[in-house]
Amino acid sequence: MPNDHDSHLDALLTKMKSAASPLRDTLRELHSKYQSAGEGKVADYIPELANADPDWFGISVVSVDRRKIKVGESDQPFTIQSVSKPFVFGMALEDHGREEVLEKIGVQPIGEAFNSITLDETSNRPFNPMINAGAIAATDLIAGKDFPDRVRRMLAMFRRYCGREVFVDNSVFSSERATGHRNRAIAHLMLNFGMLSDRLEDTLELYFQQCSIMITAKDLAVMGATLANGGVNPLTGERALDAEYVKDLLSVMQTCGMYDYAGEWAYRVGIPAKSGVGGGIVAVVPGQVGIGTFSPPLDMKGNSVRGIKACQDLAEQFGLHVFNADGCRDSLLSQFNPNGSN
Ligand code: GLN
Repeated sequence: MPNDHDSHLDALLTKMKSAASPLRDTLRELHSKYQSAGEGKVADYIPELANADPDWFGISVVSVDRRKIKVGESDQPFTIQSVSKPFVFGMALEDHGREEVLEKIGVQPIGEAFNSITLDETSNRPFNPMINAGAIAATDLIAGKDFPDRVRRMLAMFRRYCGREVFVDNSVFSSERATGHRNRAIAHLMLNFGMLSDRLEDTLELYFQQCSIMITAKDLAVMGATLANGGVNPLTGERALDAEYVKDLLSVMQTCGMYDYAGEWAYRVGIPAKSGVGGGIVAVVPGQVGIGTFSPPLDMKGNSVRGIKACQDLAEQFGLHVFNADGCRDSLLSQFNPNGSN
């Protein structure tokens, strides 16, 4: 007998398989349900973000078995911003190994804003790689023989996740660089505590570049599907992340991915995700699908209002929460002696 969780999963995959694609209908319903949601405010700390159309709204789902559905503005390019953070953390892990990275960056959620100027007082580490401090420390760990080589390696990594070449938007990059005083302050604080190498200026440049990469909701779904698929891009078959580190990324996304809404997200939606102030959210249903949403108006914590609503509805409808009552039971239970004596 399939348990509830399995039948939810089957329902999701069957919806994607059928020619009429009921999942597409579900996404369309969600899209029209929340299109009119007028809440939230488009990020305005740089003109390029302030100019975004508040009506833009795309939802895209890509499965580990290569099925793709997109509705709304899923092909509208926007800047990845903080959604880049888990992926760069993955690269730091590949370049240096888990122990070395954990000496420089914690994996502890904090209930503070993403740009808070705080380090762990005992270890001097940034709390986690999903806030700016930890993300800048992760960017610092991107290896390369010189600065252009580090940029090239970082872009190649995003290319593997997206399955296409990616580009930095120069105008966003220049604005991020010109206004990024707070990020500079954070970097200097970390340098003071020996948490950053002395290539601080290069690292900040690289960080501003990674935030300014243009992606779409569809790309985010492919990136999420790559993590759902154990690190291999299901559309290209190319490995984007060493299988060993997939769970590292998903864990920090699960606990710290949605800024200071992370705990509530883990409670209500219950799947690993990461958001960015460009309006993007990537969410991962391990073993099944990646979900990408895009809508620029943000709530007070910096998360896309429509994106949160759409993901929450999808998680409820299909029982996606990782701790959904029956979902976490069967793997260990099936290891007991089937005759019931132990
Ligand atoms: N470029 C932004 C910053 O570093 C990214 C922030 C975000 O998406 N939360 O402040």
